[in-house]
Amino acid sequence: MPASRSVDMLVVGAGFAGLYMVHRARGLGLDVEGVEAGDGVGGTWYWNRYPGARCDVESLEYSYSFDEDLQQEWEWTERYATQPEILRYIEHVADRFDLRRSFRFGTRVTTATWSESAPRWTVETDAGDAYEARFLVMATGCLSMPIDPQIPGLETFAGEILHTSRWPHAEPDLVGKRVGVVGTGSSAVQSIPLIAERAAALTVFQRTPTYAVPAHNHSLDPEEQAAVKARYPELRAEARQMAIATGSRVPRIDASTFEVDEQTRHQRFEQAWQWGGLPFLGAFNDLIIDPAANETAAEFVRAKIREQVSDPEVAARLTPRQVIGCKRLCVDSGYYATFDQPHVRLVDVGATPIDSVTPAGVRVGSDDGEDIELDVLVLATGFDAMTGALDRIDIRGRDGATLRERWAAGPQTYLGLGVHGFPNLFTVTGPGSPSVLANMVVAIEHHVDWITDTVAHLDGTGRTTIEAEREAQEEWVAYVNDVASYTLFPTCGSWYLGANVPGKPRVFMPLIGFPGYVQQVSDVTADAYRGFTLT
Ligand code: FAD
Ligand code: NAP
Repeated sequence: MPASRSVDMLVVGAGFAGLYMVHRARGLGLDVEGVEAGDGVGGTWYWNRYPGARCDVESLEYSYSFDEDLQQEWEWTERYATQPEILRYIEHVADRFDLRRSFRFGTRVTTATWSESAPRWTVETDAGDAYEARFLVMATGCLSMPIDPQIPGLETFAGEILHTSRWPHAEPDLVGKRVGVVGTGSSAVQSIPLIAERAAALTVFQRTPTYAVPAHNHSLDPEEQAAVKARYPELRAEARQMAIATGSRVPRIDASTFEVDEQTRHQRFEQAWQWGGLPFLGAFNDLIIDPAANETAAEFVRAKIREQVSDPEVAARLTPRQVIGCKRLCVDSGYYATFDQPHVRLVDVGATPIDSVTPAGVRVGSDDGEDIELDVLVLATGFDAMTGALDRIDIRGRDGATLRERWAAGPQTYLGLGVHGFPNLFTVTGPGSPSVLANMVVAIEHHVDWITDTVAHLDGTGRTTIEAEREAQEEWVAYVNDVASYTLFPTCGSWYLGANVPGKPRVFMPLIGFPGYVQQVSDVTADAYRGFTLT
């Protein structure tokens, strides 16, 4: 066993969450260290370097609010910033607050074991480091563990395989190449138009068609940016009162779908379409609750797809049938129109599944199937979301049980922040919190602030541990599922439900509704940390 370094707090991950956690912990005077698998800061924005990668929450909102000078001084260039720009921003934050010196990069945490007698966590890494920490903060990300599809023969492909989430730092040369993309989720929707610009031939393997709403991305007008900055604290506060913690500048009407006549409804959808982006699903307040209401929005988008694609057969294949918003809505820049280009082909692998990958390319259909020759295969196949990163660490709690075993039937947390049996372990945007159903930077700041206040409270009151109580946790998990069951979210096989990972239990993992959640956390805290045991 290597000699261990003793710290007050160990933070795993150097994305938005881990960096802010280190900053706040230092502010408390704690001895804090961080460990990050990547070779630099940025998390999501370090790893996802595929062409077209950008945020789908407006940059002016998809940014930290904790420091007034920072938010005033940083200038965003686009409505939806690209990955390089967001990474530059995070690097700027890391330098501005001198955060890098606390992190060990290129190092993966492999085990974490609670010692009741210490009481401390012992944490080990793949570099042979060991830490003893009073508090362990998992800032490991909801979408940080990419998955490859289980396609026979994948390893035999003679060309290059690229995963959107592990895109090489040196941009691969796709010019003149025959490229295949597997997947049509957000990563694919963003990358396909740009891959098409470079490739000689592009084949998109689509299993489930996707709903995409235009980004209407544009350069940020300095006056618009200045106007937001003049009211930043107020706009941020308004956003925190919104269901997904973003959208304070979106024109709103609080109406249900069938409260208005058909013409008004159509106008309202058109207005939301012209505004662009995720707020489309807020055009009416019942779109994700009432199936008939949802169908009106879905039908509106289907008509828009038909308008953008000239070949009716291709348009039909691109047209989704599931509930809109059930899988995360995609925000696009020229996605559908890409399929009008003669060198772009859409292959419906929902109807005729991929049989195998061969050294030469992809074989679709089994008996009289077709071989599609490729030089490059891009996997835009997503993530083991919400639990994947935690699941890859051997985390052993109070009675020696692993988190993996405890979560075998689905993740169990209290408030998405603590886990029964795992004292002094905090999960930033853990399952059971709004996390991926909110502007995540806002959700992260909320959690990190709470963890900071909680550690200060423990230290200030002479306590050493905090642990979620079993009963409170069970009630919370049931509540999260109950809330989901009143909506249309559970109606399709999304990653919110774990349905994209073979064998993963189908449990709806995020909690719907940011402001209500914030209120509940605040009530619990004010009520002497109801549902937690403090010793
Ligand atoms: P991450 O950024 O995922 O960072 C977690 C870090 O932990 C990673 O760097 C990882 O390497 C590290 N890590 C994990 N396990 C270990 C381990 N065992 N040891 C050491 N290190 C470890 N959200 C939005 O709200 N708006 C958006 O527009 C948006 N766009 C997105 C675009 C893409 C392409 C993706 C994939 C996600 C997007 N998200 C978006 C979600 C995004 O993940 C969050 O917004 C946010 O960046 C998460 O920050 P984080 O610090 O919690 O996690
Ligand atoms: P994803 O949404 O899970 O999409 C994965 C895609 O791969 C799906 O189309 C899926 O099809 C397909 N797929 C998986 N295995 C396959 C197989 N064996 N054969 C054929 N198709 C297969 O993953 P993602 O696109 O990386 O996005 C994940 C999340 O990250 C997003 O929902 C979003 O929250 C975030 N993100 C955001 C942005 C942004 O716009 N800012 C960009 C990228 C990612 P099925 O649908 O049939 O399973």
